[in-house]
Amino acid sequence: MREEDLNKERLELALEAAGLDLWENDLVTGKVTRKATKTFLELGFTEAETASVVQDIYSLFHPDDVERVQQAVNDHLSGVTPQYRCEFRLRAKSGAWIWFANYGRIMDGHGQSGGPAQGGARGRRFIGVTFNIDDRKRREDEIAQVNRQLTEQNRLLQQLNAALERLAAHDALTGLANRRTLMELGANECLRAARFNHPVSLLILDIDLFKPVNDVWGHLAGDRVICAVADACAARSRSGVDIVARFGGEEFVIVLPETDGPSALCMAESLRLEVAALRVPVNDEGARLSVTVSIGVATLCTQGPRSDFEDLVNRADKALYRAKEAGRNTVRCAGDALHGGAMAVPAA
Ligand code: GH3
Ligand code: MG
Ligand code: MG
Repeated sequence: MREEDLNKERLELALEAAGLDLWENDLVTGKVTRKATKTFLELGFTEAETASVVQDIYSLFHPDDVERVQQAVNDHLSGVTPQYRCEFRLRAKSGAWIWFANYGRIMDGHGQSGGPAQGGARGRRFIGVTFNIDDRKRREDEIAQVNRQLTEQNRLLQQLNAALERLAAHDALTGLANRRTLMELGANECLRAARFNHPVSLLILDIDLFKPVNDVWGHLAGDRVICAVADACAARSRSGVDIVARFGGEEFVIVLPETDGPSALCMAESLRLEVAALRVPVNDEGARLSVTVSIGVATLCTQGPRSDFEDLVNRADKALYRAKEAGRNTVRCAGDALHGGAMAVPAA
């Protein structure tokens, strides 16, 4: 066998083993000098059909890919790219889209073994290979799809986490901070106040004689009253500064950073009056209820022995107990007993 034939045989074997389909165009005559036969067979066309398909090759390309393929060819023919490389979908005879890749370049350029036109020199033969990349593309599509799903699931998970965090930190009925959040934030506030030697005050409110409200008007009416008092507390507090929490059934706590005893007392007194002025709608028949609150106040002082948040809560709670003893609808300060009740504010 002649060396030339041997080389041809070796080339065909290598192409077949690599799954490559060789094609060649004559750029001068515009003729296809070697068809990518294997590709057309893979697409389901017979040898006889291939001839006419080759004539109108761009009609086989997926509409979304045509422009990209033409651009890649033109970029190479005009010397922008040293090699022609492109990935695209071809329509099989069955109508299915199959992914292929083309790698090629212009050969027989002036003074070069290959490569596009340079400095006016222009090759004649545009030669390259086509090979099937459908499996790879489908895997990539699947991975992209899985990634999109994961991204979406992550987004939902983050939303759920945020909602769960909100639920875990807030009271479901009133939307105020719950007791756990109060103890956490309050402790931080006390530490901060102690570090900078600033005052912090705390109010505990308890709705007076609330059990009869439930007994007479029902539990749902009682809930409405609780919400109305919660709203009054929230409306009276400084957003982003004070901590307003539902401490128990009909008990609320307000932590007032940077607030000394007299200021906290004033705030408690005006809140007491505000609640007493409420007329809470408790049913659909238009019935309205008035309630009052008793309030205990305590302040973490800048002088004297330091106390922690729990201590502050306990002191305010004792003051609240005395407000109840004094007849309800009343404010009492921690330390009243020591100061002969000087800081007590009587009921209106
Ligand atoms: P006092 O003036 O001494 O505080 O009297 P009170 O009746 O308010 O006190 P008590 O502790 O006896 O009653 C509190 C009531 O609050 C009892 C309980 O059934 C009711 N309660 C607790 N949580 C809720 C709630 O979420 N909704 C309703 N409607 N009632 C609640
Ligand atoms: Mg109570
Ligand atoms: Mg009560």
